[in-house]
Amino acid sequence: KDFRNNVKPNWCPGCGDFSVQASIQRAAVNLGLEPEQLAVISGIGCSGRISGYINAYGLHGVHGRALPIAQGLKMANRELTVIASGGDGDGFAIGMGHTVHAIRRNIDITYIVMDNQIYGLTKGQTSPRSGEGFKTKSTPSGSIETPLAPLEMALAVGATFVAQAFSSNVKQLTSIIEAAVQHKGFSMVNVFSPCVTFNKVNTYDWFREHVTDLDETPGYDSSNRMAAMSKLMETSGLITGIIYQDTSRKSYEDLVPGFKAEGLANQDIKISKEDFEKLVAEFK
Ligand code: SF4
Repeated sequence: KDFRNNVKPNWCPGCGDFSVQASIQRAAVNLGLEPEQLAVISGIGCSGRISGYINAYGLHGVHGRALPIAQGLKMANRELTVIASGGDGDGFAIGMGHTVHAIRRNIDITYIVMDNQIYGLTKGQTSPRSGEGFKTKSTPSGSIETPLAPLEMALAVGATFVAQAFSSNVKQLTSIIEAAVQHKGFSMVNVFSPCVTFNKVNTYDWFREHVTDLDETPGYDSSNRMAAMSKLMETSGLITGIIYQDTSRKSYEDLVPGFKAEGLANQDIKISKEDFEKLVAEFK
């Protein structure tokens, strides 16, 4: 049981994405998974390469489309542990429509966003998560847009699991991924994953200085949605830990008639050769 493969990541030395990769691998081992029980589906961007660096099923999809692929996979084979992953540009710009609807649909998958507040693969442009005044080649005078607050957004559209981590705290990130995978429903995990090459503002030191760890906040109640929203707003989203979890809501698969026991991949679908050919012809 080993989730490492022999592909050497071509991320820049020090990139936060290394820790996300290591944390997924550790979490998978700690959860007792076998490589053939895990699928990692990614979008486009530096972070999108992660699906090729883990010894499990993987698919490096198209830009912003990791979630539709991951949801289809889970519906076809609900026995698989499915992790979708990508960057903040992938998930919160081109893929935002999918993110919102996957959250409210509550399919039992885990979504890990490697949030570096910039577009790294295309050499440093302002992303939906970049702060006001953030200067890049695409905003040389500084960004004048309000940065997206992804976790407030997730809570607003009905998320049942909302967490955030920092890639320099591998212990917490690993335990959050474990909890996210075990959660029966959609798990949203945002990870502060610094881009050491292009983002000279949101660095490791900047996060160390600004982030509060909920695990060190006595009395925080992660089952209280209002408290979660307040905490995010009062800290400008700069917190780590499990911010909100609702275990009472059923997952999408548990509610879809016919999918209760097994996904399509394991159903005994009885169809004659003639009917199958007729069905295929409809899509030609
Ligand atoms: Fe990581 Fe930035 Fe390098 Fe991309 S450009 S691999 S995000 S450090």
